[in-house]
Amino acid sequence: MNDDVIIIGGGPAGLSFAKLLSVTNLKIRIIEKQDESVLANPTYDGREIALTHHSHRIMTDIGAWAQIPPQSISLIKDAKVLNGDLTDPLFFDHRKSGKDNLGYMVSNHLIRKASYEIVKPLKNVTLMTGVEVADLKTTDHFGTVTLQGGKKLKAKLIVAADSRFSTTRRMMGIPTSMRDFGRVCIVCRMALDRDHDDTAYECFFFDRTMAVLPLNGRYCSVVLTISSDNADNLLKMSPEEFGRDMTERMQGKFGQMSLDTALFPYPLVGTYADRFYANRYALIGDAAVGMHPVTAHGFNFGLRGAETLSQEIQNACDLGLDLGAADILRRYDESHRKATLAMYLGTNTLVSLYTKTTPLAKLARKSLLMIGQHFPPAKRMIMNQLTEIHG
Ligand SMILES: Cc1cc2nc3c(=O)[nH]c(=O)nc-3n(C[C@H](O)[C@H](O)[C@H](O)COP(=O)(O)OP(=O)(O)OC[C@H]3O[C@@H](n4cnc5c(N)ncnc54)[C@H](O)[C@@H]3O)c2cc1C
Repeated sequence: MNDDVIIIGGGPAGLSFAKLLSVTNLKIRIIEKQDESVLANPTYDGREIALTHHSHRIMTDIGAWAQIPPQSISLIKDAKVLNGDLTDPLFFDHRKSGKDNLGYMVSNHLIRKASYEIVKPLKNVTLMTGVEVADLKTTDHFGTVTLQGGKKLKAKLIVAADSRFSTTRRMMGIPTSMRDFGRVCIVCRMALDRDHDDTAYECFFFDRTMAVLPLNGRYCSVVLTISSDNADNLLKMSPEEFGRDMTERMQGKFGQMSLDTALFPYPLVGTYADRFYANRYALIGDAAVGMHPVTAHGFNFGLRGAETLSQEIQNACDLGLDLGAADILRRYDESHRKATLAMYLGTNTLVSLYTKTTPLAKLARKSLLMIGQHFPPAKRMIMNQLTEIHG
């Protein structure tokens, strides 16, 4: 046996999981197809990740938070949800949550860099980069990973963090629900003329959804979702045209909005695995749950799942049990499903409802916002999702 645990994928979920599990004496190996230089110095990819308090706690515990320059951490104090126009928002006030802020904003490339930095020095973690997993088989006692080129590696448990389009999930025969929204998410950073007051705006206009998320100073992250056939028109705009378009859509709320980066398009496909485990195999990160970004939960769930699975494995080690046993993986599956399924389905329903332009859908949206505004338990539930520290 080469290792105890092999992790396929050195993205932020795979790396965080390795760090969480490294407190055991287990021999851990990460296999990542990108070169180490890319992990060490990831480039800006337009994604500014909204993080919950629970994620903040995990990242602090594993030392990732300390790797992020403090000036690159922004706060989301309040949030407003708007339907069709900018009037009468559903307002989430941080003071009602008992916390100083609803959440945090950190650039994805800084999270990836921090995740690499904390794993690099670990003695019981081997990072293999620039190699791709080509095949995977498991028996009752171990899993065998075959690398491109033919080399084989064995471990008691294989954990896949190889993205929402996980190829090993398919090799292990795990069916997965996939929802192609037929939409593109375009992200960028913009400079503003007026303060955003640390408030996140989630705007559901009739042909697109748009989030304007606060970044330090007079900057914001813009997350636009738009139908794929209209995306090209936006992507072809000059920076000036795009700035004018955004300024008009936000009705001058932030004064002039100016593009500060390139526009980064991401096709929108939500994925949810029918099971998060198979024989000596478990799924974490986007490979388990690939969220639509509108509710900003993808990486938050990735961290949460990584923590749950590592705790189950640690318990097994403490009790001298087989760390790849089906019981252990089943407990992880149940717990992570409970933590994520409602939000996954709810997000997909919300996206459908808020992107339809039929009169019925418009009416339903208005009613939903009114329920949210005048039914405090609904609002509290959403705020708890952001601010509660679980487990
Ligand atoms: C526009 C946008 C905005 C977002 N905003 C938020 C937000 O506000 N809040 C939030 O919580 N989440 C957000 N997310 C989601 C978040 O970015 C993802 O959940 C997170 O990056 C997924 O991390 P991961 O490690 O699971 O997967 P990935 O980052 O996809 O990493 C997978 C890794 O596996 C490697 N790999 C794949 N196949 C193989 C193989 N066969 N062999 C070896 N290596 C392999 C890949 O090279 C890659 O490094 C957003 C996503 C998008 C697209």
